[in-house]
Amino acid sequence: MSQSTHVFHRQLAKRPPVAVSGQGIWLRDAEGRSYIDASGGAAVSCLGHGHPDVIAAMHRQIDQLAYAHTSFFTTEVAEQLADLLVGSAPAGMSHVYFVSGGSEAVEAALKMARQYFVEIGQPQRRHFIARRQSYHGNTLGALAVGGNEWRREQFRPLLIDVTHVSPCYEYRGRLPDETPEAYGQRLVAELARTIEELGPDNVMAFVAETVGGATAGVLTPVPGYFKGIRDLCDRHGILLILDEVMCGMGRTGTLHACEQEGVVPDLLTVAKGLGGGYQPIGAVLAQGRIVETMRQGSGLFQHGHTYLGHAVACAAALAVQQVIQRDHLLTQVRDRGAYLASRLRHELGDHPHVGDIRGRGLFWGLELVQDRAIRQWFEPSLKLHARLKSAAMEEGLMIYPMGGTVDGRCGDHVLLAPPFISSEGEVDQIVTRLRRSL
Ligand code: PMP
Repeated sequence: MSQSTHVFHRQLAKRPPVAVSGQGIWLRDAEGRSYIDASGGAAVSCLGHGHPDVIAAMHRQIDQLAYAHTSFFTTEVAEQLADLLVGSAPAGMSHVYFVSGGSEAVEAALKMARQYFVEIGQPQRRHFIARRQSYHGNTLGALAVGGNEWRREQFRPLLIDVTHVSPCYEYRGRLPDETPEAYGQRLVAELARTIEELGPDNVMAFVAETVGGATAGVLTPVPGYFKGIRDLCDRHGILLILDEVMCGMGRTGTLHACEQEGVVPDLLTVAKGLGGGYQPIGAVLAQGRIVETMRQGSGLFQHGHTYLGHAVACAAALAVQQVIQRDHLLTQVRDRGAYLASRLRHELGDHPHVGDIRGRGLFWGLELVQDRAIRQWFEPSLKLHARLKSAAMEEGLMIYPMGGTVDGRCGDHVLLAPPFISSEGEVDQIVTRLRRSL
């Protein structure tokens, strides 16, 4: 393949390696070099690459029917996938809206919330509350709720009103003499104050990743935090939208990360691991009452995309989810995740520049610091996260870099999200290569 490229993606200056094949947790480039996919791309490839059952299901579907527009038809495969998702969803989440990815899922959820309040006669509820250091996607609505100012600033005005509150970020947010529970309650109190300031009747929804992912290196919630938020939202009639595009679909060891928090959201977004990278697909799971309200009101959700419910995408996702169930892979996520955590702590826990190692299931983040004693970040201009990613690629290891914001507030992080099928030996190789890269 020639060195010039007309493909216009993220990297403008330097052409990345050309990926040509994948098998299991390995990817291979055109030069014949192999890489361990320790990040599942961006927490996508939960079954790894080239899974024969998924490929066979996609072949069967494409031979039969690739595409039928949803204004004319539903398909058997979309119905089956929806049944599977509703059958394993948190209580009351009786409806599924399919889209083609994470940003589309978030965008659809935001609009569902808006339409719901219009239909119940509360159109003055226009405000979203979200968290700093969060990521919800790159379309304008999703970007607006996302909590990274540097991503947003050049795209203002952002069309919707969003106020941001503190994320649950124990490593940097919890006071030395504060219990995790007390820290969680302090965050809930901050949200309560923000709601009061905005006027409870003006707030539509609180939007949060159940386990923070793509900006500040896997932020796990403290006990009671989401329960406190759920209570607060209920008290004020505010919807709770949990974004599990990255942390959901088994990544943290339960199908939905919110199961571990004991809360049920009103709207839940999933994507990445839903189709495992075999096809672009995402979904919004919705409480029955929200869909019923729209059904009995205008009768229509005022939204839509050409490819929603795409038959081959649904076939891929159905196969991915059936393999996860059949092969008991959530148990494997928990077991292999515990092993990965212990190896990371053993090999890197004392590293002078590893400030924090945190995560759940097979979803782990490392926070890199210049000085561990005072948790001081590296200079953002060093772009340490990006340099570590490059060093890891040299070692044949894919890790997902995050951080390095202009104001330095996000620091340097790398994310590990290996496929659920990773063996202990492969986990060992991941940690060894990561240590060498560091
Ligand atoms: N929400 C979260 C929590 C994400 O991590 C991402 C992607 N990293 C998105 C939304 C956007 O998904 P997509 O890139 O598929 O549009």
